[in-house]
Amino acid sequence: MDNCLKLVTRQYKSENTIIKIGNVEIGTGDFNIFAGPCAVESIEQITITGRFLKHKGNFILRGCIFKPRTSPYAFQGLGTKGLGYLKQVKETIGIPIITEILDSKNLSSICAYVDVIQVGSRNMQNYSLLKDLARIKKPILLKRGMSATIEEWLFAAEYILSGGNQNVILCERGIRTFETYTRNTIDLTIIPIIKELTHLPIIIDPSHSTGNAKFVPLLSKAAFIMGADGLLIEIHPEPQKALCDGQQSLNFDQFNDLYSQIETLKKYNLEVNQF
Ligand code: PEP
Ligand code: MN
Repeated sequence: MDNCLKLVTRQYKSENTIIKIGNVEIGTGDFNIFAGPCAVESIEQITITGRFLKHKGNFILRGCIFKPRTSPYAFQGLGTKGLGYLKQVKETIGIPIITEILDSKNLSSICAYVDVIQVGSRNMQNYSLLKDLARIKKPILLKRGMSATIEEWLFAAEYILSGGNQNVILCERGIRTFETYTRNTIDLTIIPIIKELTHLPIIIDPSHSTGNAKFVPLLSKAAFIMGADGLLIEIHPEPQKALCDGQQSLNFDQFNDLYSQIETLKKYNLEVNQF
């Protein structure tokens, strides 16, 4: 056996992989949005956000319950109590849910209530976790490690595909460089590169890449123009009160504005995605 990329490559599979989540299909050339707070904070907060998105259209609600924080003293997420809130929101509102997994011990409970499982930047090379996620059929949103090369990122995806799970969505969230003005550095050239190298869908996270709500709408529109399959974007009913990442979260009015601009871009039907 050689050590080359195989299953993720365009050579292996020429047609785009399409991933179905509820009524949404990622990878068809449409532009789909995962949105919600960085962390689930209360049943009210996640219900208000879920209702807002459900009312607007076909979105996937994001809300993390296990938070990988730099400081052990920072809010770590609500854990299994938060999972109960996600279950409630899914059942009462009927919206698909994405949440991040930190540890395989939570895999079966997360799988029971969640539609997409996020692997965060810090876990992109947690190969034991990737192997466990390969054994299930749920879609996996695989974020790029903050210091990972494209090849390392694709090898992480290869772990999931080669273990039996073909449902991988790649998510670029910026990488660490010498620049500290933004939270991370994002190069949107990644989109055509990924489309050329692989058949997997790629979405952009404008929130963690910029770290600043002010830059999120422009970057989101640029991602659309560059041919991304969608966005993972942080929104919060009251960003100034968020327990995590409020400074980079859009409020609902800001998200409404951005979404209507994206809808306008869609009407132009720009043929930007040539792969
Ligand atoms: C997140 O999506 O909340 C998150 C922690 O992102 P990342 O893994 O990209 O830092
Ligand atoms: Mn966050």
